[in-house]
Amino acid sequence: MKAKEFIAVEDKYGAHNYHPLDVVITKAKGIWVWDVEGRKYLDLLSAYSAVNQGHNHPRIVKALIDQARNLTLTSRAFRNDQWPMLARELCRLTGYEMVLPMNSGAEACETAVKAARKWGYQKKGIPQDQAEIIACENNFHGRTVTVISFSTEPLYRKDFGPFTPGFKIIPFGDAGALEKAVTPNTAAFFVEPYQAEAGILIPSPGYLKRAKEICERNNVLFIADEIQTGLGRTGKLFAFEHEGFKPDMIVIGKSLGGGCYPISAVIAPRSVLGVFKPGEHGSTFGGNPLACAVAREALRVIKDEKLVQNAAKMGAYFMAKLRTIRSRHLKEVRGQGLLIGLELQRDAGGARRFCEALKGVGLLCKETHDHVIRFAPPLIITKKDLDWAFERIRSVFGKFA
Ligand SMILES: *Cc1c(COP(=O)(O)O)cnc(C)c1O
Repeated sequence: MKAKEFIAVEDKYGAHNYHPLDVVITKAKGIWVWDVEGRKYLDLLSAYSAVNQGHNHPRIVKALIDQARNLTLTSRAFRNDQWPMLARELCRLTGYEMVLPMNSGAEACETAVKAARKWGYQKKGIPQDQAEIIACENNFHGRTVTVISFSTEPLYRKDFGPFTPGFKIIPFGDAGALEKAVTPNTAAFFVEPYQAEAGILIPSPGYLKRAKEICERNNVLFIADEIQTGLGRTGKLFAFEHEGFKPDMIVIGKSLGGGCYPISAVIAPRSVLGVFKPGEHGSTFGGNPLACAVAREALRVIKDEKLVQNAAKMGAYFMAKLRTIRSRHLKEVRGQGLLIGLELQRDAGGARRFCEALKGVGLLCKETHDHVIRFAPPLIITKKDLDWAFERIRSVFGKFA
């Protein structure tokens, strides 16, 4: 079948909850993908940073196949020999004490909300059903009803109410606003260290650390959503490391599954995750041996291939090059590591048409909201590939001069 036909079938039978670029991908390897007509593209999105290790990483694929031949699912009614190993490896990697495994990012965020509330009642002594969680404007934590209950994006909320109560919204990057919003009933501050979906927003230096201090002073949990920024994307294992402090809970997902299998997790000290007792929370597929075997290899690949260091080096290199582009349409180049946003001027005609044009020259990327183009290639990318991409990006800006 031709691309056109796949698109027609998808549009007829698939729900229209996405607006994809019209490229029908059929295979991939490393940083490259191929469409059904044999055209090759460099992937500058990495499935929203779920493919940090590159597509079809041979070691991760092998771990997936080997484990699939052996054991895929037990449910947590029984134990398996992969989950304990992943839990220990994650604790050793991060320096925390406990892990709770889930499948998607949104589920892990829900889990963090549940953990924070239970902690609030049991450890902080918040009166029953009074717990508050503070989140930031323009956040993105996923799509479940509770998670969109603290979203500020009308598109994500329209006609999905009634919403879960118990959330307070403050501006991102404003520690004073956090200080003011905290009450004796505040259980947690839930934040993305860098807001990716909002358009690659990096708060001013010191903000996160100050926010953590405010949390500490008020016995409030600091929850970092590192689903997109974590596991190397920003040039550190976690984005919060850029400010040298430790959150009370971290949420990870996306590239924990190496682009091969969905898995997410909440990581915290025993004093927090220890609040869950048997039967109080769970997931049939959470902690399944297939996901855990894949995640274990995905983490080893990040370490063995020094992907965190490469993200830092290549990110700085790429950003410096992007900043040399002279175009009246380009407002700002910003980012950290290999999470980079190009903000366009409001009269540039929107990021979508740039993404369409970039597709035409062999680069796949996606607009975030209307005016920002995100560049987030797999962390295995080299200088040579970035040079190749850069020439094409520059040509597109030249074309729209
Ligand atoms: C992608 C993402 C999520 C949601 O993850 P899903 O697996 O799509 O549910 C949550 N938070 C952040 C920061 C994300 O980037």
